[in-house]
Amino acid sequence: MKRKLFLFVFFTVAVYWTAVYAEETGIGDILVDSTMTISGIAQANGIPEAKLLKGLKLETAEASLKLPETGRSIGQASSVIRKIKVLQATEKAKDWRLILSKFALWIISLTAATVLLMKNKITGRTRLIWMIGTAVLFGFMFGSDPNPMGTVKDAIVLYGREGVLFPPRMAALAVFLLLVFVSNKSICGWGCHFGALQDAVNFSPVRKFKLPFWLTNGIRTIILSGIILGAFARGLDWIGAIDPFKAFNLKPGDIGFLGMIFISLMLLLSLVFYRPWCQLFCPFGLAGWAVEQLSLLSPRISRQECVKCLTCIRVCPTRAMEGIYHQHKLHADCFACGKCLSNCPAKVIKWDRSKKKQ
Ligand code: SF4
Ligand code: SF4
Repeated sequence: MKRKLFLFVFFTVAVYWTAVYAEETGIGDILVDSTMTISGIAQANGIPEAKLLKGLKLETAEASLKLPETGRSIGQASSVIRKIKVLQATEKAKDWRLILSKFALWIISLTAATVLLMKNKITGRTRLIWMIGTAVLFGFMFGSDPNPMGTVKDAIVLYGREGVLFPPRMAALAVFLLLVFVSNKSICGWGCHFGALQDAVNFSPVRKFKLPFWLTNGIRTIILSGIILGAFARGLDWIGAIDPFKAFNLKPGDIGFLGMIFISLMLLLSLVFYRPWCQLFCPFGLAGWAVEQLSLLSPRISRQECVKCLTCIRVCPTRAMEGIYHQHKLHADCFACGKCLSNCPAKVIKWDRSKKKQ
């Protein structure tokens, strides 16, 4: 009962937030009327004629015809122009060299992390240095974007608002999810800059508490539903107001007052809870959690040699090892931190293919 009440209160606050603080963006005017030719419409809106013809399913020869002569309506033309302009604006805002470099570095660093996990060579010191390095390199040096959370949130917002899917973003999301499929949530655990920042803060010598599994997934489901609802019902990007990745842009105007409060709160909570943003709010956290249940590589216990000391469950910063150890169908988020592997006194946990997936 208490759980339901808590989730209900949380849902109400999320809906209120959607209504009050959501961000809206525009793409400027769409110029189209019945006296214009297809060619003229493309020119007036600054979009390629070929794309407009393709969107309206017309032949090249029809470019010189006026809109009504092509059998298309002003409404149809406006909708196609809008989609083309949205894609153009999204593409223009991207620095492709930076994005590709970031992905290349991610793949290199996650391969290295996976090798260290497989060799059981992770120590607390390695982890702390890596977390600081990830936050500095992928966050403060490369900037907030791209990031795993943004690929999910922005894809939903763009589709809900404009009915447009941006192919490079969908490809990026596919790469992130593929990385989760191969080596558990190593992109979150080792590569994500805001995840790493919280992780580094969590090294503070303060007593730690674990979040219950029902709470983490309950809240993340509500958040994801709120993002979908806001985007599809009102074309809003409400999470943009508190996007913690903006912390890496180092431009105070970019973050905003609410953002600053929220980021500070997440970092403060990180002192006692492991990755509160990831476990409670992040939409990629939830998507990754679903894929993680099928990951090829994950912590694997040799049950015959296990001495049943339960150290792995105790040292795990989430409820993941509890679920893995007791062979639950679904387990909480495993951030591939390697603590269970390095702390097992009998050395019977390996980063390996799970038996049930072999
Ligand atoms: S769950 Fe955490 S680590 Fe993973 S994408 Fe979200 S913020 Fe990053
Ligand atoms: S300690 Fe927990 S989170 Fe870390 S690798 Fe083991 S199961 Fe995953």
